[in-house]
Amino acid sequence: MSRRSFYSYCFSHFLYPAFNRLIGRDMYGVFTERKQTEWWSPEEIRALQLRKLQRVLAVANERVPFYRRTFQKIGFHPQELKSLDEFRALPFFISKPDVQQHTEEFIAEGCNRKQLTWHRTGGSTGVPLLFATDPATNAASAATLMRLVDWWGMALGEPHVMFWGSPRFIIRTRLDRFRKRTLAIRHRLMNRRFFTNYNLNPQNMRVYRQMIEKFQPSYIRGMASSLFLFSRFLVAERLELDRGRPRAVFSSCEQLYDWEKEMIERGLRAPVANTYGVSEHSEIAACPPCGSMHLMEEDVYCELVPLSEDGQTLEIVATQLNNTLTPLIRYRTGDIADRITQGCSCGRGLGILEGLRGRAHDFIVAPDGRFVHGQFFTHLLVFESGIQKYQVIQEELTRFRILLVTGPDYSRESETRVLTGMQSYLGDSIKVQFEYPDLIPLTGAGKHRWIVSKVAQRAAENPASKQAPG
Ligand SMILES: [Zn+2]
Repeated sequence: MSRRSFYSYCFSHFLYPAFNRLIGRDMYGVFTERKQTEWWSPEEIRALQLRKLQRVLAVANERVPFYRRTFQKIGFHPQELKSLDEFRALPFFISKPDVQQHTEEFIAEGCNRKQLTWHRTGGSTGVPLLFATDPATNAASAATLMRLVDWWGMALGEPHVMFWGSPRFIIRTRLDRFRKRTLAIRHRLMNRRFFTNYNLNPQNMRVYRQMIEKFQPSYIRGMASSLFLFSRFLVAERLELDRGRPRAVFSSCEQLYDWEKEMIERGLRAPVANTYGVSEHSEIAACPPCGSMHLMEEDVYCELVPLSEDGQTLEIVATQLNNTLTPLIRYRTGDIADRITQGCSCGRGLGILEGLRGRAHDFIVAPDGRFVHGQFFTHLLVFESGIQKYQVIQEELTRFRILLVTGPDYSRESETRVLTGMQSYLGDSIKVQFEYPDLIPLTGAGKHRWIVSKVAQRAAENPASKQAPG
């Protein structure tokens, strides 16, 4: 046994289980269960979901003030719920502003608060969201990562690389410095090299490439846009991975576009598996080698509900099935998908999420009311030379600001071409102001938001759109 596989064996059999027992997280138990349930039939999985849902709803009604009040208002008695169809017909949803404004009311009365893990995310509106998860949710979330790595024939503890953002990289005080050091130790123990996506410039990317070649990771995990940037650099510089190429690349947190996937596969020379999650729920779906986006149906119940009046655009609404202390029930994710289907060549009974194509905030609203996918701007801007980074901000229905970080190849003639392209598609009333900052700030979670539509945000937060259909 080589030194690296010996460490991996010790890590996954002794070190990590001991750590998880210490923090009261039974991720190995959950993982073992998942290895069975994913082969159940869709009907058996439905039955499991209903049982778990009934339990979550009963506890929410008894102990969680926000839901008790909501259920009373709509006359819903959880003990009478007999089917998932009945659940889907309930006339309520919750969304990010509900959790922001009533954080305390989402916590079960009498629960031991020391058991809760608190999270803070940047939120799509730039307003921080504070929320808690319980030990059952944390265990399921960790088991999901184990499951994904296992699907690709690997185990936790194998050498891997992460491209991620972390507030720990922002040093303001001595405590920050201490935290950064403890995090570095944790990465070493996890057998991980951590590359922050706060500073992906050519110089750093060259260093990362050297480190990967030396470290030879089993897998690389990262946010889609960072993996793409890094891979594009490798391809442009003819530095595609060689000895350091991993067995799989896991893309997380952001929409992964086809052209990004292709570029990542070229640069890192490994298959890319997409995963889908929102920070409030952790991973909701992930791809095994079969290529289907399988839902984590033991942990989350997903529905698709109309976002636009015409019912053409469907939003993913998720309910946690493990969380009884701080449950999120019928939570509007703001993400869009086409359909949920059953039946896969791999034989797993888990449902498949199809047509996942971007967050709601990745859309702009055209003056005629259409939701136009942000990919439109990619097609418009990607062919103009010298643009290193961009952000499109829709201030009003017809007023846009386009922020461009440019290099020496850039020419102001691009402005005319971009404006003409936008007007041809969105109408002559469109007005654009071009700005040239030195950098475009990332969100708190280290993500780059390339489309910010204040109009789409207002549409999504409009209470009229939160009613259940029919
Ligand atoms: Zn499959």
